[in-house]
Amino acid sequence: MNQTWRSKVLTLFPEMFPGPLGVSLAGQALKDGLWSCETLNIRDHATDKHRTVDDAPFGGGPGMVMRPDVLDAALDAALEDAAGLPLLITSARGVALTQARVRDLAEGPGLIVLCGRYEGVDQRVIEARGLEEVSLGDVVLSGGEPAALALLDACVRLLPGVMGKEGSGIEESFESGLLEYPHYTRPQVWQGRAVPDVLVSGHHENIRRWRTDEAEAATRSRRPDLWERYVAKNG
Ligand code: SAH
Repeated sequence: MNQTWRSKVLTLFPEMFPGPLGVSLAGQALKDGLWSCETLNIRDHATDKHRTVDDAPFGGGPGMVMRPDVLDAALDAALEDAAGLPLLITSARGVALTQARVRDLAEGPGLIVLCGRYEGVDQRVIEARGLEEVSLGDVVLSGGEPAALALLDACVRLLPGVMGKEGSGIEESFESGLLEYPHYTRPQVWQGRAVPDVLVSGHHENIRRWRTDEAEAATRSRRPDLWERYVAKNG
């Protein structure tokens, strides 16, 4: 019997959830109770009559910063019935998310993720709560919600029962430390372009070798960072 994998999202925009995760495989899994998605509106934890959640940055500069006291109260509320879930915060200055980290999170009981907005979040609440700062990569989003959706999507597809055999995952990009090989389907010739001969040869060992070569070539040219690590590990 599977336990429900729990997610709690702290956000100023709860209406963004489950959003795209309410359809397709993740949506079906949500209906089936394989995972849950609760939202907490950060604004509900503001204490003044204007329900202020942000203020100007000390030291000056553009934009506003989310207040630590409001976020702390929101985190208290989130943890009330969810003590022990890992606490994450979306941040462009966080550690870039990896498939390995996603796999760890998917194997655990769930997660709590705080979505930043404005210029970001007061550093003291990040430190006081030991929040794990995660980034989607070297881009700047307008808010953490799309990053949280991407994080949840990556976790949910790994939960037992969410995907069919395509979910076994061992041959996918990153699982081996390499990008994946390219895919082809019918028609066998399309706009004068034929599928690589080896793929229609029926020779499984040659196909396996071709795919490995392609995966290595793509990784070497597109992701020198991954390639370096792969070579160090595999010689
Ligand atoms: N001033 C910040 C960017 C703020 S963007 C900086 O230069 O680093 C507003 C919010 O969007 C951030 O607090 C963060 O929660 C979210 N965000 C932006 N880019 C992100 C990324 N690449 N990964 C995860 N979250 C991101």
